Amino acid sequence: MSLQVNINGRLVPKAEATVSVYDHGLLYGDGVFEGMRSYSGTVFQLDAHLDRLWESARAIALEIPTTKEELGRAVMETLQANNLSDGYVRLVITRGSGTLGLDPTRCSNPQVIIIADKIALYPEEFYRDGLDLVTASTIRNHPGALSPRIKSLNYLNNIMAKLEGLRAGCVEALMLNHNGEVAECTGDNIFIVRRGRLLTPPVDAGILEGITRNAVIALAEAENIPVAEVTMTRHDVIVADECFLTGSAAEVIPVVRLDGRSIGDGKPGPITERLMKAFHRMVRSETTSKLA
Ligand code: PMP
Repeated sequence: MSLQVNINGRLVPKAEATVSVYDHGLLYGDGVFEGMRSYSGTVFQLDAHLDRLWESARAIALEIPTTKEELGRAVMETLQANNLSDGYVRLVITRGSGTLGLDPTRCSNPQVIIIADKIALYPEEFYRDGLDLVTASTIRNHPGALSPRIKSLNYLNNIMAKLEGLRAGCVEALMLNHNGEVAECTGDNIFIVRRGRLLTPPVDAGILEGITRNAVIALAEAENIPVAEVTMTRHDVIVADECFLTGSAAEVIPVVRLDGRSIGDGKPGPITERLMKAFHRMVRSETTSKLA
């Protein structure tokens, strides 16, 4: 059976799940989204993802034509309809179709789309051996122009940096902010370990406040690993003992090189490995306890 996509509350075969060419989501990237994972049939941190979706929508003055409870239920139905217990869910809310001009107030019927599918973001060996990163010359969006806290359908800023990474043979790229400080990667947050302390840029460095990032901060605290949100530069990453990235799709993945320079001894570090294991334990316990 073909994949079923939920569009405005109706499950339809993938090929029939379409939106208008007049939808401002397509014409202007005017809309918001979320990406989350399901484990054993339960979405990890569903409420946090719904809260962030509603915050992104509020930031762009888009009213989501459903409640969080209804959308949460629709996510579960879409996973079940596709027989997916370990999968990836993409929630998309577009501005809806309007006229050939920017004015969002002339748009009607925002589209509510739920895609549930499989995902394998990075090959298995990267989790074992670690990733290489390059620093992109494309800086992260200036928060005064478009806040990186909004998970909007306009991802060109990140895509330009991703292209730089791919051209350099790297699947991820480090993005600096307008002050030259470390912000995040194109689709993942960044952490370093320095003398036993876990460090990550603060939200006001101009980043998306990652849900996996927040889960890892809580895990580190529970594991008695000192953790702090601090402004950092590329220098801090290069001289770090360890580095890793977090994201719903990526989960926790080690980084072993930046711009061709080894980080630490060039292998995934012990605190990274400890947090990777703790993260998988957390995911299993949070998702199975909800099923019981
Ligand atoms: N930063 C950016 C730019 C992202 O798009 C994402 C999500 N793919 C993340 C960080 C990680 O966020 P989360 O852990 O909530 O998936």
